Amino acid sequence: MRRPMVAGNWKMHGTRASVAELIGGLNQQALPAEVDVAVFPVSVHLGQVVEGLSGGVVSVGAQDCAVEPGQGALTGEVSGEQLRDVGCKLVLIGHSERRLILGDSEEQVVRKFVAAQVAGLVPVLCVGETLEQREAGETLAVVARQLDSVIEALGVAALSDAVVAYEPVWAIGTGLTATPGQAQDVHAAIRARVAVKDANVAGALRILYGGSVKAVNAAELFGMPDIDGGLVGGASLNADEFGAICRAA
Ligand code: PGA
Repeated sequence: MRRPMVAGNWKMHGTRASVAELIGGLNQQALPAEVDVAVFPVSVHLGQVVEGLSGGVVSVGAQDCAVEPGQGALTGEVSGEQLRDVGCKLVLIGHSERRLILGDSEEQVVRKFVAAQVAGLVPVLCVGETLEQREAGETLAVVARQLDSVIEALGVAALSDAVVAYEPVWAIGTGLTATPGQAQDVHAAIRARVAVKDANVAGALRILYGGSVKAVNAAELFGMPDIDGGLVGGASLNADEFGAICRAA
């Protein structure tokens, strides 16, 4: 059986003071032992969050990493090794806000995925279609393309140390959640596509759903056979609500 995961993407939110408050709230949550829980703060807060959550069960990840490994002349970037060095275990790769607003290309997403694995981080590869693409009937083609970029470049085995997050862009931060059935269809298609290459990798691959996950809709989404947890944005900024979402997994 796949171990569920609930990940909180804090995006560009927080100050040292509000982050301290959120850490305090998280440390008070009764979190289920059978669920992997992780939070993804902005990079300048990583040290504070790693320290504040040390001793607990919540892992810390970053929201992005540099395309290049190690250290070097790449102003403004943070490498996978540097993220590891401050205590990160995971990193989001190819979040739709990076793809669509910040211009991360498919090629950069693959390079970041590699850089994360070289550094010993677990990449959480985010895929998902826009509203226009869904309405044009292109959902599965778009998601397959995003997945295939990684598989073609690195081989399917690369997914055995990774997590995939399906996040329909139209459901992110909009309050519009995909129905459990809509999400399940895409999750099943992702797993089937991986299974064509390697059934074992596909069977073990955790596929998270993201897009307006809240305490009120989490249990129904996580109850679907191919949904192995969630990548939670807005609702992860409230420790009680995030705790409730973790308990629904
Ligand atoms: P949301 O964000 O839960 O606020 O919709 C999800 C995400 O972008 O990871």
